Amino acid sequence: MSEPNDNHLPEARGIYSDFLKKNKMFFTKERTQLLDFIFEQKGHFSADELMFEMQKADVKVSRATLYRSLSQMVEAGILSESDFGHGHTHYEIAIGSKPHVHLICTDSGDVREVHSQKLEEALNDLARKEGFKIKRYKIQVFGVSKSSRKEAAKL
Ligand SMILES: [Zn+2]
Ligand SMILES: [Zn+2]
Repeated sequence: MSEPNDNHLPEARGIYSDFLKKNKMFFTKERTQLLDFIFEQKGHFSADELMFEMQKADVKVSRATLYRSLSQMVEAGILSESDFGHGHTHYEIAIGSKPHVHLICTDSGDVREVHSQKLEEALNDLARKEGFKIKRYKIQVFGVSKSSRKEAAKL
């Protein structure tokens, strides 16, 4: 799982506030609450999962605002989106996050986040050869996890 992102919250607030200002929108109380709540989340979350968590925590933000704000935050570079083949988008905090690999189990839908120094070196090497400057990346790998294979063997 990713490390806690709380330390990047002030930075995210600044970026979001600038983004909203540029787009002639206000950093409303609702948007502030939403951003703060997102920074309490760990790992990856869908809009529905976030909505569910917010309802549990009694944070009142409408579904429309949630969806709109999530895409704004992606546009502003605060969040990034991933498709794990679940039929919905997953979000994670992009600020301060290191390049990583998602191991996506197609049987259980579980997603594990892993880091590989070797892979990073290989990509940097590739980019250098191509004269390409890497900004960020995430690699999606689909397969079957150890625990799913164990489950399947039991049947
Ligand atoms: Zn999902
Ligand atoms: Zn991730």
